[in-house]
Amino acid sequence: MRKRNAIGTMAALLAGLMLALGAATARDPLAKDLFGAARLPAAMPASSYGFYSKGCFSGGIAMAADGPNWQGMRLSRNRHWGHPELVETLERLSREAAADGWPGLLLGDMSQPRGGPMLSGHASHQIGLDADIWFMPMPSRRLTIHERENISAVSLLRRDSLHVDDRKWTRAHEAVLRRAASYRNVERILVHPGIKQKLCDTVTGDRSWLSKIRPFWGHDSHFHLRIGCPAGSTGCREQAAPPRGDGCDDSLAWWFTEEPWRPATGPEKPKARDVMTMASLPAECRAVLDAPAPASAEAVTVDGSGAIPRTVAPVSAHAYAPTPGRDIPLPSWRPENR
Ligand SMILES: [Zn+2]
Repeated sequence: MRKRNAIGTMAALLAGLMLALGAATARDPLAKDLFGAARLPAAMPASSYGFYSKGCFSGGIAMAADGPNWQGMRLSRNRHWGHPELVETLERLSREAAADGWPGLLLGDMSQPRGGPMLSGHASHQIGLDADIWFMPMPSRRLTIHERENISAVSLLRRDSLHVDDRKWTRAHEAVLRRAASYRNVERILVHPGIKQKLCDTVTGDRSWLSKIRPFWGHDSHFHLRIGCPAGSTGCREQAAPPRGDGCDDSLAWWFTEEPWRPATGPEKPKARDVMTMASLPAECRAVLDAPAPASAEAVTVDGSGAIPRTVAPVSAHAYAPTPGRDIPLPSWRPENR
């Protein structure tokens, strides 16, 4: 009898707990809805908070739809925002890759204006430090808005194969990856395992940069560039460094076994970004969400002309702002930094 009572009490407790959890879920809006609705960045000092797949950022600036050596794709998504250090890195890559002979970057998604989880796609890209770049070279003409929404990125793989199509792969692809990997702040570049294998098979001379080229699912029609936590972003959580060495080893061979491609079994788990509430994100993300916006997107957009975007940021005193009460340093492009 007593045992049954104990079980009954436990069941009641459990039911109560589940009710409380359910109520919390019903009450708390999803972080992806809140961040997905932000049209402009947080006019605060630039800082990344949390981790690539769980966080947000302030002081974002945007890559213009067109630069001297880039064109933005899928403009309607409003995802060409990043920490100023990422924007600066991409501007530099577009310029230096062009000097190497790559016609220009087709820019895929970066982050939402204030980062955070997205309504669709991408687990990461949340703290303004990730960017997708198409493997398709930029055409010499300017693409129309319609083309930028609808052109499909072409896979570098042979049809139904895990290996690169040699008719599509060029030395220029290698060069743009090598250039990106040469930057100190670029910590990882994600590519399809078939592309990593191609580099392993063909790169001669210095191969140390191959350690940053990481095999991953997808990424056969674009590569994903990730920079480390910028100086001053104390709330940004570093990712473990990739293993030393060129990575052309058993860890790569694994990708050519059946295991990584086996369909998942059991009930499908919801994606983290689809259930995250503000409670899952760093506390600072609340202030990022609530922060005022710059006067306009144009005021904080980099077009590669060398002009430094400036805006009169509304002043607001946040507990963690370094100099509350006076003019906040403006999100700005620093062209000559490294
Ligand atoms: Zn990506």
